[in-house]
Amino acid sequence: MPVLPPGLSQETFARALDEFRSAIGGEWVFTSDVDRASYLDPFDIGEQDDHACAAALAPAGVYDLRRILEIANRHRVPVWPVSMGKNFAYGTAAPEMRGSVILDLKRMNRILEIDEVMGTALVEPGVSFFDLKAELDRRQSGLWMSGPSHSWGSVIGNALEHGVGYTPYGQHAETICGMEVMLADGTLVRTGFGALAGSREWQAFRWPFGPALDGLFTQSNFAIVTKMGLWLMPEPEGMAGVSISVPRRDDYAEMIDVLRPLRMTDVINAPYTIANGWRQITGGRTRGEAWQGPGAIPRGRMEELLAERGQGWWSLIFNLFDSPAALDIRLEKIRAAFAAIPGATMSVRRWEKGQPQESWMRQEVGLSPLGVVDWGGSPGGHSDFGPVVAPIGARAEQVYAIIERRFLEYGKDPWIGMFGISSRALIFVADMFFTRTDAEDTARCRALFRQLCQDMTEIGVGLYRTHLRFMDDAVAMHGWGDQALPRLNNRIKAALDPNGILAPGKQGIDSWPGTERSEA
Ligand SMILES: Cc1cc2nc3c(=O)[nH]c(=O)nc-3n(C[C@H](O)[C@H](O)[C@H](O)COP(=O)(O)OP(=O)(O)OC[C@H]3O[C@@H](n4cnc5c(N)ncnc54)[C@H](O)[C@@H]3O)c2cc1C
Repeated sequence: MPVLPPGLSQETFARALDEFRSAIGGEWVFTSDVDRASYLDPFDIGEQDDHACAAALAPAGVYDLRRILEIANRHRVPVWPVSMGKNFAYGTAAPEMRGSVILDLKRMNRILEIDEVMGTALVEPGVSFFDLKAELDRRQSGLWMSGPSHSWGSVIGNALEHGVGYTPYGQHAETICGMEVMLADGTLVRTGFGALAGSREWQAFRWPFGPALDGLFTQSNFAIVTKMGLWLMPEPEGMAGVSISVPRRDDYAEMIDVLRPLRMTDVINAPYTIANGWRQITGGRTRGEAWQGPGAIPRGRMEELLAERGQGWWSLIFNLFDSPAALDIRLEKIRAAFAAIPGATMSVRRWEKGQPQESWMRQEVGLSPLGVVDWGGSPGGHSDFGPVVAPIGARAEQVYAIIERRFLEYGKDPWIGMFGISSRALIFVADMFFTRTDAEDTARCRALFRQLCQDMTEIGVGLYRTHLRFMDDAVAMHGWGDQALPRLNNRIKAALDPNGILAPGKQGIDSWPGTERSEA
């Protein structure tokens, strides 16, 4: 069944497609059912067809892009840009608004620059983590990349979504330095010092003369990002891989209070990951081997499984980056701090520059983390509920307790982790695994997610990132000042994209005619 952009007749859309074909070449305009199906979300928490695209276009560069936008504006065709389109758990390559046309930017895949002296790179949207790693290796570069746990995605797409890696450069949005963006009317803009012809400083300094606009184009639909500058980390002299096991459920608040000063003072100088008991029992077994009864795996059964392997209720892992002597000092401070928690154990691995790399260093590229999605049944899917929480023991405990209780209430395993991504924030990742073809299961996950939005709103906690299905729910949580912030976003959107053609509905921001959001 053909899918049309909302409000467009078949004839008008057919005319627009013909114009797209003559603009960028027929082979780069995808309209068959098979081609369109490849842009569905394999992990959708409901009917994939709710987010089906009408077609997909693959421009070769900014010249094609400008022609596409001119046609899209003329015919009011909504377009949804993706870089690699591997946004698994949050929508993959599918659009928020059914009937949007995907702008697949994979062909724009040049690594334009790697500056060994300044430790920076300038890349296009179609550069994946595999590509960047291969290029750094080919050059025998002295710079390291920070990537997410799977490497299929785009360096730009991931940074735009505020993605996470596991080095000191692991808060990827913070490594952005300078962008080139195309506005909805086809204007090409370079942010920061990129606005000066011949600048040597575009990738050097994030705070230009005037407003710093890079952030405006992350998690937004205000423009299409066509180039991005990034900071890369100089290879460290050494690394330590730290695993800490904390024995009791009730140690949680104390563990957070121990971690906070270590992270704030940069003793722990990269994001840490905390896994609760349910998250730890996944390794090396199927869910059916763990539990065959109804509902969520009960806490007692989970604790039995932990005990079999001698695991504590909480597992904490992170890597440290420094010279060998400085690592010794960091490790000593961490050991001393965790001595405050009775029974906490710590194990450490070490690496020094020149030695072969090992998997715990997380410098390899690969896809293996994606295997976990079948934990809840096949064909599996997963998404997560991701509140951002101050790393203060009492606050983190308040949020954790609500999430665990609700997961159990809704019959879902509370598979909860947290990332100490920045020095002052914990991002929870409460994963919901489901069998994608089981309508009751996916409906339960949606209800759980919305229940948690309500719970978090009551205590003033917002979200990091969501699946397409929940973008309106997440934005509605920002109620202060009569929704002043969402309304401001919609005003900026209306000014930059009056026809509302760029990614309508992205993060709940819109100027698509006729929608409530467009009238803000
Ligand atoms: C098992 C598993 C593990 C994961 N681990 C991690 C992890 O460790 N860290 C992490 O960060 N994520 C993780 N993810 C989530 C996700 O898969 C990655 O973040 C992935 O890198 C995002 O896909 P992408 O980079 O291809 O972005 P894309 O899909 O290309 O882009 C994401 C979105 O950004 C916007 N966008 C993209 N490009 C542009 C552009 N050029 N202009 C304007 N807007 C644009 C669009 O709205 C698009 O839908 C994980 C997912 C799974 C299932």
